[in-house]
Amino acid sequence: MKVTAAYIQTPFQISLKQVDLPSPGSDQALIEVLACGVCGHDIEIGESLASEPRAFGHEIAGVVREIGENVKHVKVGDQVALESSSFCCDCDLCRNGRVDLCNKGAGFWTGLTMGFSDAMLVPGRCLVPAPDMDVKSVVLAEPCGVAVDMIKTAEIGLTDKVLVVGAGIIGLMGIAIARRLTTGAVVAVNRSKGKLSGAMELGADDAFSSNEISIPEIGARFGGFDKIMITAPPQVIPDCISAAAYGGYIAFIGSDFKGGGVVPIDTHALHFGKKQLRSSFASPAMYFPQALHLLKTGVVPADKIISHTFPLSQIDEAVRVMREDRETVRKVIVIPDSKFKA
Ligand SMILES: [Zn+2]
Ligand SMILES: [Zn+2]
Repeated sequence: MKVTAAYIQTPFQISLKQVDLPSPGSDQALIEVLACGVCGHDIEIGESLASEPRAFGHEIAGVVREIGENVKHVKVGDQVALESSSFCCDCDLCRNGRVDLCNKGAGFWTGLTMGFSDAMLVPGRCLVPAPDMDVKSVVLAEPCGVAVDMIKTAEIGLTDKVLVVGAGIIGLMGIAIARRLTTGAVVAVNRSKGKLSGAMELGADDAFSSNEISIPEIGARFGGFDKIMITAPPQVIPDCISAAAYGGYIAFIGSDFKGGGVVPIDTHALHFGKKQLRSSFASPAMYFPQALHLLKTGVVPADKIISHTFPLSQIDEAVRVMREDRETVRKVIVIPDSKFKA
């Protein structure tokens, strides 16, 4: 089967190629792509991680078109979301109930084509049925799973005051879910002001620019936050330790591949404050059924999360908007040209 697929090489050289996809093997399925989201990680790949051209796009909604004989839980014609990596079910970690720690499972990161294409081959294990849902919700399952992992890492309780640091889309989804979990205040902080309206739309009680008020000052204003979810570079961690309440948990998602990963922290503030700093890293990709439910029920509203849609032939423009239009961009999605309606 001939398909069009996008490839990226550092620095941001993007090309479209015609590729011949073979039929799926016995454990695989051929997925027709319906939509694929552009993720911050795609920007990192384009910036520094792709020394040679590679397929990309890992936030995928699709339809099963062909299927290997061992794939039993979905059938041809089913709409699916794709786990970007799965767990194996066979290793000691999996057998001991810690599938969340297993990185031996199937994935599609080395595939001939990935989400920015017309179609791709994927391990059947990665397919999660997503029936009766709008494609724009299904395509958010992967990042929503990331937000769910962060929510679980933070262990948000019924009356917790919650601070969400960073109002990118994981932050926005975190706000929307936290809003349903706690009767306490849900507060957002982001450096640039342009993102604050999104935080308020998704259910924050208050939203601040850290250019105008520091994170420790916000903490003081609310008497300390019981739970803090960080979706911002690691440099904010020291400030978040100060803004946490006695016994507070700080869940952290964030990376800085440009050397900012090492940050000095006040261990006395952590220790004597009985605070916990916890990393949330949604690999393997998990919680898709919960994420799909949150999207289907509108707890996480796709129409407020997706801001831009491009056809695959304009993938370079989709990536450019994601990189440069920081004030207004939320989630950018890409749709194969044959399905794109302007
Ligand atoms: Zn992603
Ligand atoms: Zn395993």
